[in-house]
Amino acid sequence: MSEKDLIIEEDGSVTEETKPVTTDPETSKKEDEFEKVCMLCHRPESTAGKMIELPNHMNVCQDCMQKSMDMMNNSAFDPSKLMNMNIPGVQFLNLADLENMMPKQQQVKKKKPGEKVEPVFDLGKMPAPHKIKAQLDEYVVGQEYAKKAISVAVYNHYKRVASDTSDDIEIEKSNMLMIGPTGAGKTYLVKTLAKILDVPLAITDATSLTEAGYIGDDIESVLSKLLMAADNDVDRAEQGIIFIDEIDKIAKKRNANPRDVSGESVQQGLLKLLEGSEVEVPVGATSKNAMVPMTTINTKNILFICGGAFPELDEIIRERLMKRASIGFEADLKDKYTQDKDILSKVTVEDLRKFGMIPEFLGRLPIIFTLKGLTEDMLVKILKEPKNAILKQYQKLLALDEVRLDFEEDALRAIAEKAMKKDTGARALRAIIEEFMLDIMYEIPKDDSIGQVTITRAYIEGTGGPVITLRGQQPEQLTQTY
Ligand code: ADP
Repeated sequence: MSEKDLIIEEDGSVTEETKPVTTDPETSKKEDEFEKVCMLCHRPESTAGKMIELPNHMNVCQDCMQKSMDMMNNSAFDPSKLMNMNIPGVQFLNLADLENMMPKQQQVKKKKPGEKVEPVFDLGKMPAPHKIKAQLDEYVVGQEYAKKAISVAVYNHYKRVASDTSDDIEIEKSNMLMIGPTGAGKTYLVKTLAKILDVPLAITDATSLTEAGYIGDDIESVLSKLLMAADNDVDRAEQGIIFIDEIDKIAKKRNANPRDVSGESVQQGLLKLLEGSEVEVPVGATSKNAMVPMTTINTKNILFICGGAFPELDEIIRERLMKRASIGFEADLKDKYTQDKDILSKVTVEDLRKFGMIPEFLGRLPIIFTLKGLTEDMLVKILKEPKNAILKQYQKLLALDEVRLDFEEDALRAIAEKAMKKDTGARALRAIIEEFMLDIMYEIPKDDSIGQVTITRAYIEGTGGPVITLRGQQPEQLTQTY
């Protein structure tokens, strides 16, 4: 078997060369699924016709190549002479330099003619909300309400995608807004969810987004990220999840310069993505430029989840509740609100508007729920209970050296106490553990006779060492260990 390739000769003419077709099934499958895109006019091969391959994985369609040749032939100068002249401030394009500018993956997945987009989910096989939650439970500690709310919302969302009803009753999109302190598990919840459902996920930070033309990523860059996560398969990306973190940072600034509308305009820019529209997206890069091919993504079935810590939102809620309380005879409630640790869960859309989110934006996030700040008990659980808990990971690592790693229950409590002081939720746990596990991981493999290591509170607090038991030796009777 053979196929024809288009080759550019030195004089600019194009000839055809016959080359044997690759017989590697993997390669040919890939070639069959993806198509080349012209680096100049950005049309895919299915529209622009056979591409001419240039070095560094660049492709140009025959029309563009012809136009370039015509331009060169018609102009009076000889470009090759210009290349050798050193004109200040003028540089000539060297194809080899383009390599770093070009996206590595300049191909989008082919849409076969008449092919119907298969939903990621078959409604029959879609796990029911309680099953989604049960799977989330294996990884995420606590946050019962959030897990329940997200399971139901996701189930409804994919039900809507799978049914894709075109009748009068259009099911509203289940975009979500998650409010909760740093390190409470917002990102982790979404990551776990995407893994369970096996859908592509893009995580982005609202602070990095700017309106087109400003320094930062264009708003469409979130879609480029999703496309990358979906291996450039547009159909899969169109059914994925986008998580926008730190959404509170693009609130309208209260009591600030009224001319500073940067956050507000990013909210405005996100509106059309949230509600569903066709968007031109750069392939393989996060910003548009002349070298990047574009493709169109419809955001109708993409699930958007926004998250943020919303500092001081509690004060806005408290103020509202107090105002109500002081009008009636319920002034004694004031105390209650001041001490209420779970005040965030009483949030309303009105509070969020006051915080600085624009009503149109909130209107496109119909599901709002809160996560609780983690308690010391929850931190202890996070250390040891989830399927991929940090302690389990270290135990597995040491087990490969045939060493048993134990933690005294009191040691876990000491770690949790230290983490609570840092006020960054569960994020602090890993840093604390890594700090003291470094010595253990360094010293233990040195000595073959060590069979077991038990981490104690004293070791965590720096007042003692871990308990080391040699192989064949009975461990000392310790307090309860994990
Ligand atoms: P944020 O709410 O700021 O997005 P993250 O989700 O990034 O917080 O949490 C940081 C890390 O802490 C996660 O990667 C995860 O390992 C751990 N973590 C946080 N909350 C939980 C939780 N409820 N259950 C289990 N692990 C958690």
